[in-house]
Amino acid sequence: MSDAKLQDEEGRMAALERLEVLDTGPEEAFEKIVNLVRTVLGVPMATVTLVDRERQWFKARSGLCAVETPRSISFCTHTIQQREPLVVPDALLDPRFADSPLVQEAPHIRSYAGVPLQTPDGYNVGALCAIDTEPRTFSDGDMAILTNFAHIVVDELELRLIAQRDHLTGALNRRGFMEQAAKEFSRFTRHQRSAALIALDIDHFKIINDQHGHPAGDEVLRQVAQLCTSSMRPSDSFGRLGGEEFALLLPEADGVEAVAAAERFRAAIESHSFDIPGGEKLRVTASLGVSSLDPGIASVEGWFAAADGLLYKAKKNGRNRVCSTAPEASSGSS
Ligand code: GH3
Ligand code: MG
Ligand code: MG
Repeated sequence: MSDAKLQDEEGRMAALERLEVLDTGPEEAFEKIVNLVRTVLGVPMATVTLVDRERQWFKARSGLCAVETPRSISFCTHTIQQREPLVVPDALLDPRFADSPLVQEAPHIRSYAGVPLQTPDGYNVGALCAIDTEPRTFSDGDMAILTNFAHIVVDELELRLIAQRDHLTGALNRRGFMEQAAKEFSRFTRHQRSAALIALDIDHFKIINDQHGHPAGDEVLRQVAQLCTSSMRPSDSFGRLGGEEFALLLPEADGVEAVAAAERFRAAIESHSFDIPGGEKLRVTASLGVSSLDPGIASVEGWFAAADGLLYKAKKNGRNRVCSTAPEASSGSS
């Protein structure tokens, strides 16, 4: 472990982004941990805090109203600069915090203990915090408990990541993808940010399995996933919804851009020569349905249903094509 990592803000941000946890909803494991910290240490507030570039955001919080606060006034921005826990027995006596609005105003923090949340590769992405409105000391026993809980938080962050991935292709699994889609949908309803959903299904996949065997089918799935992820933008999400069905989420994309992207994925698959076990090469095609968010789509489920309907239309119209709500968008070569 190199302490140079404590100064490496870009590496730290990359480690935080890899966790794909910012702005996600409450999750039981983290809720339980903050409640346990409160009970066991006897503090009125406890948080699982992640330190983003300009803010601290609470993955879980107990006894505290704010969802996030500016990083500049936070205690945790100090905690993540060190390997050891940060203990502040009386914030009014500490020049770093005495004037902080978090101390002077609600929630009236007076004492604090924070253990850095250190990822396996050595970056402090946040802290597990016990907070009191009274001055207090934290015993060695308190700190040992808090440190153990911090290790559990890091394990849980890694586990939730594994739980969102499909083993075969490395794509998000249905659960992970749905979570991203729900986030995009709420951005649309709250901030009118456009986004598009692409449903993709491999054509006549059953024949590939039947003629070349299941391992060949698996290899095709892996290579389709690779083709899509290598030609999408870093902000796009790619998921395997089941079997040979995939989906892509394109934040900020309007209808025209989304259809162009779908056409790119379709063409990349059509022109690729798939190497399968045994040295053979296969040609594969896929059909795609593109649904751009509009006010007529009332729910995430409705959004998926719209993309699925368009995918079905692409299949019916001959496969190896893109269908969208825009009439001129149908294309393909089969
Ligand atoms: P269409 O063009 O209408 O989509 O036809 P299709 O043959 O692709 O679709 P169908 O739904 O009939 O067949 C899907 C096949 O995908 C059947 C199933 O055995 C196979 N499959 C599902 N999951 C996997 C997997 O993980 N690996 C492999 N090799 N095959 C899978
Ligand atoms: Mg299929
Ligand atoms: Mg299918």
